[in-house]
Amino acid sequence: MNYRTASFYREFQCIGGVCEDSCCENWEIDLDEASLKNYMKQEGEFGKRLKDNTRVKEKQFILNGTRCPFLNQENLCDIYIEMGEENLCETCTNFPRHIEEFDNLKEVSLTMSCPEASRIMLAKKEKMTFECMEGTDEEYGLKHILPVKSFAFWKKQHVNKLDKPLFDILFALREQIYAILQNRNMPIGRRAAVILLGAGEVQKLIDQNDYSQIMEKMVSYKDPEKIDSLNTLFEKYENRVAEKEAWMKQILNMYEGLETIKEEWTTILHEGMSIMHSGEDMKTMLIASGLVKEEESGEEISSFLRNYAIAYQEFQHYYQEKEYEFEHIMVYYIFNYFLGGAYDHDIFTKVKFAVVSYLVILELDISVWLKQQKEFIYEDQVLVAHAYSKEVEHSYNNYESLQLVLSAHPILDMEHILLAIAKLMFIFLRLYILYSSITGTFALLVARSGTKFAANCSLSTGGSKAPVYGICTICTIQYTISISFAITCMEKKVDKQGMCDI
Ligand code: SF4
Repeated sequence: MNYRTASFYREFQCIGGVCEDSCCENWEIDLDEASLKNYMKQEGEFGKRLKDNTRVKEKQFILNGTRCPFLNQENLCDIYIEMGEENLCETCTNFPRHIEEFDNLKEVSLTMSCPEASRIMLAKKEKMTFECMEGTDEEYGLKHILPVKSFAFWKKQHVNKLDKPLFDILFALREQIYAILQNRNMPIGRRAAVILLGAGEVQKLIDQNDYSQIMEKMVSYKDPEKIDSLNTLFEKYENRVAEKEAWMKQILNMYEGLETIKEEWTTILHEGMSIMHSGEDMKTMLIASGLVKEEESGEEISSFLRNYAIAYQEFQHYYQEKEYEFEHIMVYYIFNYFLGGAYDHDIFTKVKFAVVSYLVILELDISVWLKQQKEFIYEDQVLVAHAYSKEVEHSYNNYESLQLVLSAHPILDMEHILLAIAKLMFIFLRLYILYSSITGTFALLVARSGTKFAANCSLSTGGSKAPVYGICTICTIQYTISISFAITCMEKKVDKQGMCDI
């Protein structure tokens, strides 16, 4: 059997008792048949404890509140201590490994729902790489792995039958997706938008059973000319603050509807919703962080949307150096789930899952950053990304519901997600005002200096000398527009949609 893993796979070691998040808390572990039999035949005091704490029919331990009954006060596992590692059930042995199986290939990742695994992954500045080697389950720390069952069963029947020709194509296609996601010459949002567009096109071909053009289609999204041509398309979505804010609010509400796996996630989510989507909290946080002055915070609706855009722009600027963390997060979700498309023929949902996960984690990061008055460190990212993963990947029901919504709900169509990814323009606006002020001042000088000076001006004419009669026309027009633009913006002429009225 071949095993494909991320290259840091073997760095993982469970930190056990010092882990801030025991994996067996809030988790109803399903016992495999062999382990259940083994536990039920144990004798003595520990055998009695095993029997007293197991629901044999349901094949589950009886939780002690939210804790596994064998998780002791030091957060160590008593089964491990009393019976040895080899007697742990499949689930406990395998965690935090996520396994997907395709014919003679097993892909094994370290799930981010384990904070230590998240820490290892997010600490790497370099691009995530993968390696494939022959091996055995034991060598990869695995026990009795059953073939993967695809979750996305609603799209097509017979989903557990691997479509081998499609698998081969998707395997190569995934490399193209990594290449786009890891192209650090593009902002991370743009990379997310490109893979989303590409996946949408590829999905159409899969739906038509036309596999022959799939590679060509995706490879074209790596072509610089194609990327350039997408600029016009992406611009259509930029700066639509009100729509983005409303969409993110709906998405966070949707996550709120999932079953709670860990209270910490609920706290992060609720605080995020309140900070990012209640005008008052956002205003308070921005004032406390010095991003907005108290006297600026009047005009309620427009200033709320302006503040929302400012929060995004300022955080993305602040966290620019660590953009690779979001890259890793998307690569991680693509690695774990994308090839499942060879079972259910639905790759678009898998890509949406990666992109929406990035968007939700980003927004929650911003709320934590605001709450901590413009401070957000690596451990904060570990906390948010890990809590998110635990909520959506650690529960079959949550994963299944989320995939269903991602595949079918109209608010999760291409248009809406592109809109949510697109840039908000407030920094651009500020730079424009700065640029305008400089060129405006220059134009004023030109105007005051008369023909001689203006005749030598090459700034606004792209290098050639300006043919002038006293005043350089281009500079003057630009000056007039610039000043009125700047004044209007200073008066905050932002409409209810968060768009600059000019
Ligand atoms: S969450 Fe990870 S590090 Fe913590 S106890 Fe579980 S496997 Fe170990």
